[in-house]
Amino acid sequence: MKYSSQSLERLIEAFNRLPGIGVKSAQRMALHLLEASREECENLSKAIIDLKDMVGRCSVCFNLTEDETCDICRDVRRNQQVICVVEEPKDLLAIERTAGYRGVFHVLGGALSPLEGVKESDLRIRELMARVDDGIQEVILATNPTVEGEMTAAHLGRLLKNRVKVSRIARGIPYGGALEFNDAVTVAKAMEGRIDL
Ligand code: ZN
Repeated sequence: MKYSSQSLERLIEAFNRLPGIGVKSAQRMALHLLEASREECENLSKAIIDLKDMVGRCSVCFNLTEDETCDICRDVRRNQQVICVVEEPKDLLAIERTAGYRGVFHVLGGALSPLEGVKESDLRIRELMARVDDGIQEVILATNPTVEGEMTAAHLGRLLKNRVKVSRIARGIPYGGALEFNDAVTVAKAMEGRIDL
């Protein structure tokens, strides 16, 4: 669409490129900012620049942090001997939301995917091995229950098997779900993980 102002058009396009933001929302946001105070606009643009300048990766677990190490790695009340391996920081947040886990994490930076060309060397596997060799008691593999996540967990399981206690998070058919609406991997895993009654 053509707008009466190039600046307006440019901002709408920028918002529209963000995940989950359609053209209509992008228009609403841009027009809102046009009416907003200069201060509000400056705060927003500064928050975006600060995000790029300040947020980095924890040197131990690769979680997002503004410091050398993240809050979780620095927390002495957490069990630093148990590492939960996840694909991305958003997966770490999902586990933290449950508030039941008291160990630490390792963020791989993705999952193995021959289709998308993600190889072992693209993930932080070498760094994980170095941590394990440094005297870790247990590794919990919490990659996603997708084809790529399962492949990554299987690969890590092979690498870690004789070095440390390894487990894979339990998963299966979601409560209220039907077998037919789940993919084959989910169903197979649910079968494998069955318990005697
Ligand atoms: Zn950390």
